[in-house]
Amino acid sequence: QAKEEGGGLCRLFSGEIHTRRDARLKLEQDLELAVENHELTLAYQPQIELASRRIVAVEALMRWQHPQQGSITPSRFIPVAEETGLILPLGHWALEEACSQTRHWQDSGLPSPPRMAVNFSAFQFSQGTLVENVMAVLEQRQLAPDCLEIEITETALMQDPETSRQLLKKLKDCGISISLDDFGTGYSSLSYLKRFPIDVLKIDRTFVTDLPGDAESVAIVRAVLALAKQLELSVVAEGVETREQLDFLEDEGCDLVQGYYFYRPAPEDEITALLAADSPFPSP
Ligand code: C2E
Ligand code: MG
Ligand code: MG
Ligand code: MG
Repeated sequence: QAKEEGGGLCRLFSGEIHTRRDARLKLEQDLELAVENHELTLAYQPQIELASRRIVAVEALMRWQHPQQGSITPSRFIPVAEETGLILPLGHWALEEACSQTRHWQDSGLPSPPRMAVNFSAFQFSQGTLVENVMAVLEQRQLAPDCLEIEITETALMQDPETSRQLLKKLKDCGISISLDDFGTGYSSLSYLKRFPIDVLKIDRTFVTDLPGDAESVAIVRAVLALAKQLELSVVAEGVETREQLDFLEDEGCDLVQGYYFYRPAPEDEITALLAADSPFPSP
C-alpha cells in the first residue's frame, strides 16, 4: 500500500517537473524568436535632474509581448536570457533600438534630447568585442558617445572584476558614461568604487521605499550621498514614489531621481509628447 502511494507520488512529482521543464524550454525557444518576430519593445523611463527640474536622461527597459502569454516581465525573461546566452542578441538589439530612438529624438529638434541609459548584463562583459560592438552601433547612428550611459550592477561586475574594469575603462575613455545599478544590494567592496571608472551611482529602490520614516534607510541613503560627493560621482535615486521621498532626497542633495512619482516607463510616443511639452516636472 505505502509503496503504491509512494510510486504514485513519484509519478506525480516527476510529471510536474516535466511540465515545469517543458514550460521553461518553451520560454527559451520563444525568446529566441522574439527578436525576429518583433515581440520585443523598449519602454523608456525619464530621469529628472533636481537642480534644473528637467528630464536629462531616459532608461531603456525591455518589454516582451508574447503572442499567447501576453506581456512577460523582464524579471522573468532576463534571467532566462542570461542563463542561455540569449542576452547577447537581446542586449545588442536593445542597444541598437535605444540608439535609433536617440537619433530620432535628436533629429526631431525636441528640447533637451535625453541621454540614453541602457542596461547591460554580466555576460555582455565577457565578450572580448564589447567595446567595438558598442562603438559600431554609436557610429552607425552617428551618435556622440556621451549620449550613452551603460547601467551595470555591482554583482555583474564582480563576476570577473579585472576584465570588467578594463572594459569599463575603454568604454569610459571613448566618452560613454558608466552607471552602477541597484547600488547597495549586491556584493561588492567599496574599494572597487575607486578602482572602477564609475560616473553614476543608482541607489536601489529598496533603500528609497522606506524614506523618510525608516532610520536605517535614512542612514544608508545619507552615507551613499556623502560617499558619492567625496568620490565626485553623481547619484540617481530609483523607485521614487512619493512626495515625501522626493523632499528628503532633495534636502539631502541627491542629483537625479527616477520613479513612478514622476513617470512610469512608457512607450516612445509618450516620451516624445513629454519632451515636446517641455515641462517635465509634475507640479505638486
Ligand atoms: P533596473 O535596471 O534596476 O530597472 C528599474 C526597474 O524598476 C524597472 O523594472 C522599472 O520599471 C522599475 N521602477 C522604476 N521606478 C519604479 C517605482 O517608482 N516603483 C517601482 N515599484 N518600480 C519602479 P523593469 O522594467 O521590470 O525591469 C526590471 C529589471 O530587468 C531591470 O532593473 C533590469 O535589471 C532588467 N532589465 C530590463 N531591461 C533590460 C535590458 O534591456 N537589458 C538587461 N540586461 N536587463 C534589463
Ligand atoms: Mg537599470
Ligand atoms: Mg536599478
Ligand atoms: Mg533594480
